[in-house]
Amino acid sequence: MIYFLRSKYDALPSKIRASLDLDVIFRTTTKETCKLLRVERIAVYRFFEDWGGEFVEDFEFAEPGWDFGPLGQNTVWNDSYLQEHQGGRYRSNECLRVADVHVEGLSKCHLEVLEQFHIRAYATAPIFIGQKLWGVLAAYQHSQPHQWQYQEIQFLSQVANQLGFAVKQAELMAKTERKAEDLRSVNEQQEVLFNLIAEIRESLDLKTLFKTTAREVRKALHTDRVGIFQFDPDSKYTSGEFVSENLLPEYDSAIAIKVSDHCFGDKYVEQYQKGHIQVLSDVSQAGLTQCHLELLENFQIKAQIIVPLMKGSDLWGLLCIHQCGHPRVWKAAEINFAKQLAAQFSVALRHADLLAQSDSKAKQLDQALQALQRANEKLEELSNLDALTQVSNRRFFDNSLEAEWERSLRAGTYLSLILFDIDYFKFYNDHYGHPAGDQCLIEITQAAQGVLKRPSDVLARYGGEEFAVILPETGQAGAAKIAEYIRNAVRGLKIPNQGIQLEHLDHPYVTISLGVTSQIPKPGQSIQQMISQADQALYQAKAKGRDTSVWVPPIA
Ligand code: GH3
Ligand code: MG
Ligand code: MG
Repeated sequence: MIYFLRSKYDALPSKIRASLDLDVIFRTTTKETCKLLRVERIAVYRFFEDWGGEFVEDFEFAEPGWDFGPLGQNTVWNDSYLQEHQGGRYRSNECLRVADVHVEGLSKCHLEVLEQFHIRAYATAPIFIGQKLWGVLAAYQHSQPHQWQYQEIQFLSQVANQLGFAVKQAELMAKTERKAEDLRSVNEQQEVLFNLIAEIRESLDLKTLFKTTAREVRKALHTDRVGIFQFDPDSKYTSGEFVSENLLPEYDSAIAIKVSDHCFGDKYVEQYQKGHIQVLSDVSQAGLTQCHLELLENFQIKAQIIVPLMKGSDLWGLLCIHQCGHPRVWKAAEINFAKQLAAQFSVALRHADLLAQSDSKAKQLDQALQALQRANEKLEELSNLDALTQVSNRRFFDNSLEAEWERSLRAGTYLSLILFDIDYFKFYNDHYGHPAGDQCLIEITQAAQGVLKRPSDVLARYGGEEFAVILPETGQAGAAKIAEYIRNAVRGLKIPNQGIQLEHLDHPYVTISLGVTSQIPKPGQSIQQMISQADQALYQAKAKGRDTSVWVPPIA
C-alpha cells in the first residue's frame, strides 16, 4: 500500500516541472494531489507582503460533491500569528498537521476560523521560492478527522517544493520574456531610429522634418503627445511655441498656444544648454514650482521627457515627449532613443540651414550669371569680332563693305570681294566632331589672315563655314591672286579629312573653294548684286570640283 502510494506520488513532481504555465501547474497539482492523498480539498494559500494572505481560487481543488462551498474566491485569511511571526513556523520549512481540530487543543480564535470553513483536519506545507516563503499548500478534510501518514506529509511537502520551483521557473521565464520583449522594443526603436535618421537626413525642408520626428517618436515610444517646441529667437528662452506635434485625439493640441514661461526659463535653460535631459515619471511628485506645474497641467501632462534640440551650439528648442493619461516610468532605452533622435534632429536642423544659405547663394549666383550672360550678349552685339575665329563678324563685314563701296564709288577705284567656303566640311564634322570642326575653322581663318597684308583688307566670317574678304583698291588680277594665295595657304595646312575619303572622294586634306568678283562701283549698282556675283563664282568653283577659285565679271 505504501509502495503503491509512493510510486503514484513520484509521477507528479515531474509533471510539475514539465509545464511552465503557472496556472496549469497549480490547477493540475491541486487536483492530482487531492486525488492521490484522497483528501477532500487541496488549496494554495499565498502570502501578502504583510504576511496576511489569501486562498487562490484558481489553485484549489475540492472533491466533487463537496457542499461546504469553496475556500478560494480569494478568501483573505489573515492569521495574526503568521503576521506577527512573519510566516511563523513555515519559515523554518515546517509542515503542520492536525488530525482533528477538536482534539488538538487549538486556540479559540484559530478554531473559530477553521470551523467557519468546516475544516476538520488539515496538513500544510510551505511553498518557498528560493529563500522566500511564498505561500502554503494545504490539504483539508471537512467531513471527518484524518490521521496524516508520514508519507502523505512528505508528499505534500515535496509537491510544495516543486510548486516553489515551478513558480521560480515561471518567474524566470517571465523575466526572460520581459527582457526579450524589452530587447524587441529596443530593436524596434533602433529600427525606427535608423529609418528616421535616413528620413530626417533627406527631409531638408523643416516642416517635413518636424512632422516626421514628432510622428515617429510618438509611435516608437507609444506616448500620448510628442511636440517640437521652438523658442522665440529673441525671447531669451522665455517664450516659444510648438511648431509641430503628434498626439492622440483624446488630448488637447498644444499647437498655436503661445508659451510664456518665466519660471521655466530661469531654472532649466542652463541645464538644457548643457545638453541635459529632463525625465519626469510623475510630474506631481517632482517638486516642481507651482507655476511650472500649472503649465504642465494646461497640457494634461503626467510624465515627460524633455530633450534639448540644439542648432550648432545654440539651444533652438525642445523635443517634448508627454504622457498625459497617467504617470510613466521611462526606460533607459526610451530615454536613449529620445537622446539619439534629438542629436540627429539637430544635425538636420543645421543641414537645412546650410541648404537654405547655399540655396540663396545659388540663387544669387544664378542671377549674377544671367546678368553676365545678358552683358555678354550685349557686348557681342556691340563687338565687331567673331567670337570663335576672332576675325571680323558679319555685322562688321556689312558695315565695312558698305563703307568701302561708297568710298570706291566716290573715288572710282576698284573694289574686290572674295567669298570662300570649306569643301566637304560636313564630312569633316561628321568624322571628327564639331569641336574639331571649330578648331579647323580657326586654323583656316589664321591661314587666310596670314595672306592679307594691307590693313584695309577685311577678312570676315560670313556664315558658319563661309568667309568673305573685302579687298579695297584691288582689281581683278590682284583679287584672283589673293584668292589663290588663300586657297594654297589653306591647302598648305594639310589638315587631313578622312571623312571625305570615306566617301570615296579624292580629297585628302581640307580645302576651300573661292568665288571672286571685282568692280568699280557705279551709281545704280548695288552691294547685294556684288555679293551675289561672288556667290555665283563660289558656286561655280564648287561645281568645278572644289579646291579652286573662280572669278566672275560684274553684270554690266
Ligand atoms: P561643300 O563642299 O559643298 O561646301 O560641302 P560642305 O559639307 O562644306 O557643305 P556646306 O558648305 O553646306 O556645309 C556646311 C557645314 O559646315 C555644316 C556644318 O557641319 C559645318 N559648319 C557650319 N558652321 C560651322 C561652325 O561654326 N563650326 C563647325 N564645326 N562646323 C560648321
Ligand atoms: Mg557652306
Ligand atoms: Mg562647305
